[in-house]
Amino acid sequence: MLHQLTISELAAKLARREASAREAMQSCLDRIAKTDPQLHAFLSVDAADALAQADQADAALKAGATGKPLLGIPVAMKDVIAVKGQPLNCGSKILGKYVSPFDATVISKLRAAGAVIFGRVNMDEFAMGSSTENSAFGPSRNPWDPARIPGGSSGGCAVAVAADECIASLGSDTGGSIRQPAALCGIVGLKPTYGRVSRFGLVAYASSLDQIGPMTKNVGDAALLLGAISGHDSMDATSINEPVPDYTASLGQSLKGAKIGLAKEYMGGGLDPEISQAVQAAVRQLESLGAEVREISLPHTEYAIATYYIIATAEASANLARFDGVRYGARVEGADPIELYCKTRGAGFGPEVKRRIILGTYVLSSGYYDAYYLRAQKVRTLIRQDFLNAFKEVDAIVTPTTPTAAFKLGEKCADPLQMYLNDIFTISCNLAGLCGISVPCGFTKNPKLPIGLQLLGKPFGESTLIRLAHAYEQATPWHRERAPLA
Ligand code: GLN
Repeated sequence: MLHQLTISELAAKLARREASAREAMQSCLDRIAKTDPQLHAFLSVDAADALAQADQADAALKAGATGKPLLGIPVAMKDVIAVKGQPLNCGSKILGKYVSPFDATVISKLRAAGAVIFGRVNMDEFAMGSSTENSAFGPSRNPWDPARIPGGSSGGCAVAVAADECIASLGSDTGGSIRQPAALCGIVGLKPTYGRVSRFGLVAYASSLDQIGPMTKNVGDAALLLGAISGHDSMDATSINEPVPDYTASLGQSLKGAKIGLAKEYMGGGLDPEISQAVQAAVRQLESLGAEVREISLPHTEYAIATYYIIATAEASANLARFDGVRYGARVEGADPIELYCKTRGAGFGPEVKRRIILGTYVLSSGYYDAYYLRAQKVRTLIRQDFLNAFKEVDAIVTPTTPTAAFKLGEKCADPLQMYLNDIFTISCNLAGLCGISVPCGFTKNPKLPIGLQLLGKPFGESTLIRLAHAYEQATPWHRERAPLA
């Protein structure tokens, strides 16, 4: 049952030589063989490569290696993060048989920490979506109810962690893609501050919003993994040269004196009553742990989704121009380069990606740039200012992660706007450049589905989030529940 362990539990077992890294990796592979035909978290797994890495870890363990906090730990990788020698498809057909010739910086860092990196994990095409239904390879399914979506775009990562198909995973978050699937699958997901983690080797969706972050079975593991991947990188000019604190030092700290804001704009509207109750109960729990909770206001919240879908699509339209049939992956031949380009993109991209490229091209086009793109950038500043004002009074802000629990496959496919509304609570964090974490905070009754509590922190306030989230987690039973898999 090694696949069921957390990072810290497995690391302790490996250090005591009670199990080998090969056994741990094999345990995950066996679990995948059993559960993934139903759940479809993985697009592919290179078992031989994973076991070879595990053997290397075992050799290092035998030699008494020190200072490698993830030595022998199997970590599954979202299909948007480049791993040398492995396929890189971004949930899309357009990359064809493309194999990455290099490691993303987060991968180099994980390797240096001793992790066993394996699997290409399913996602919405180019990270555009909230359900994995936009994957060109078919959706993943929620282990709490396989008729339901796991969230997205890092839905496969959340499934793989929740179903114990891996020990931990890395996802990416542009408007909620780590936190929303974490909430819907009952795990922990942390989006670091913009600039905290290098984006080198993360295929760009919206470059001013994207961040890579941990998806884990508990808060302690998120702290460990975040520490391993954070830091300045000369390959990413937007990564910030701030020292990386020991995030695990925030575990087990008291909440006495912590000030938490409850945003009134996040507790009304289309919020499901069961989610609202769970979040209110979580707020009371935080208070009983010593935190002081006060109401705050984020007045520009209602503009967040519109602002996001202008900025994200504008950036995506530019970033995705590189997939032209010439540089990478799949190609459909044409009589001339333009025809080749049109046919390749016509055949290679799915409908949601095309919709966003068209929208993004439109908002950037001359005559509309000022009316849409420039205006959205101004509103983005107002949204950021709301948060910076709130953070003068509080250390963190508590909200629901999602307005509803996991919905059924197909339920929102026909209406993109309904799908976009799912990100209402997660999107502002990216627009404002903050950090955020989702932790399990209960279940709906019938059917029983996970609910997520979101904590938002100041730029580079990850330590505060980890302190709050860990104290809450340790005081509540939710993270101990496992998905009832067939
Ligand atoms: N669901 C949002 C979108 O479709 C966010 C996705 C993400 O964070 N990658 O853009």
